[in-house]
Amino acid sequence: MEEKFIHSFRYRNLWYSILSAILALLTVLFFLGVVNFISYTLLSNQEVKQTLETSASDYITQNSNSINNSVKEDIYRESMNSKNVQSDAKPLKSSQSNDKYDPVIIFIALFIGFASFITYFLIFTKRMSSYLKEISKGIDELSIGNFDVRIPLRNDDEFTRIAQNLNRMAVEIKAIMEEERSTENKKNELITNVAHDLRTPLTSIIGYLDLVSKKDLPAEIKDKYIGIAFNKSIRLEKLIEDLFSYTKFEFGEVKFNKVEVDIVKMLYQLLDEFYPSFKENGLEYSFDVTVPSAIVGADGDYLARAFANLIGNAIKYGADGKNVNLRLDVKDKEVIVTITNYGEVIPKKDIAHIFEKFYRVEYSRNEEHGGTGLGLAIARNIFELHGGQVTARSGLNGTVFEVVLPIGI
Ligand code: ATP
Ligand code: MG
Repeated sequence: MEEKFIHSFRYRNLWYSILSAILALLTVLFFLGVVNFISYTLLSNQEVKQTLETSASDYITQNSNSINNSVKEDIYRESMNSKNVQSDAKPLKSSQSNDKYDPVIIFIALFIGFASFITYFLIFTKRMSSYLKEISKGIDELSIGNFDVRIPLRNDDEFTRIAQNLNRMAVEIKAIMEEERSTENKKNELITNVAHDLRTPLTSIIGYLDLVSKKDLPAEIKDKYIGIAFNKSIRLEKLIEDLFSYTKFEFGEVKFNKVEVDIVKMLYQLLDEFYPSFKENGLEYSFDVTVPSAIVGADGDYLARAFANLIGNAIKYGADGKNVNLRLDVKDKEVIVTITNYGEVIPKKDIAHIFEKFYRVEYSRNEEHGGTGLGLAIARNIFELHGGQVTARSGLNGTVFEVVLPIGI
């Protein structure tokens, strides 16, 4: 690419130089033509003058007796003036030979040649240099952080390609900066939320434990308060755990211990674990599986955690939908697991973002659900680190999370 650029750039300049040299040569030739013409005219006049001089002096010699001196002079002057010849004019070409130029003329011709070469070259390269100026102005703007600047694209040459790359760079840097800014905002939001989420349950945990320890309460009430404090503590633990594991994924500190894992078995186990949660939320679940087992190479704990995040979400956000359906298929050496829940539809504008860290859809930003928006980001990290992927779609037929994992270890 660079090689091509250098060549093309050099060839173009070479072409401009040749063209300027040809035009400069033509200019010099034109100049010499003009000199020749003037010189030729002057020489002709000189010949006429010499002829006239000769005939005038012959005439005077022949008639010397009959005319006096003053008349001689009159005749001579008249004969000269009648042809309008300047006796002191100097020929531009050297008088000895017609082919040789006066050194002064040669010097002027060289000067004209040189000056016109420079002028033509500057004219030819003007467009190029003014475009370079535009590009450099663009770079200046970029260097001071103005990423809205766009360098106009002219022609289809190397400079246009540079401009194109700079424009693309500006767009990409702007996008990165915006993403950074939005992550930063989300982080700040998270810190505020986490601080709030930590403080609220902590305050009530302290409050309930204080009541339990000081007052002489009936055993029933005591149990109730302890139960509340316990649930709040579990929530706190989950929050801290999520934050902790997410940062571990972000910094690549996670080590997978990959073994053969049967996903069919794993999902049955997970559904058993979630049974109380389904019941609590008044949900029924089904699991359609077309194969007796599906072996993948995975770290069982992490993979179970990723699926647990999806099932947990289906319960949390699909409580109004009465049903949660799981399905497992094996196709072309891939296991495809879908988890479908009903109820709240994820708006189109949100669906592309739900796998981003700290992203939560408007309807779920309340105390009741109280998530951190890290669950799907963690799940996606885990599936991708296992060579798979997870996607989501949502509509009136339900919200579907589809996981694809490669079969075998
Ligand atoms: P966390 O899982 O960290 O406790 P969370 O559930 O809010 O918090 P994610 O699991 O990352 O975070 O989900 C991001 C958002 O996507 C949720 O806040 C919710 O708005 C939406 N969402 C996720 N799963 C579903 C689902 N099954 N149905 C409807 N909306 C969902
Ligand atoms: Mg979640």
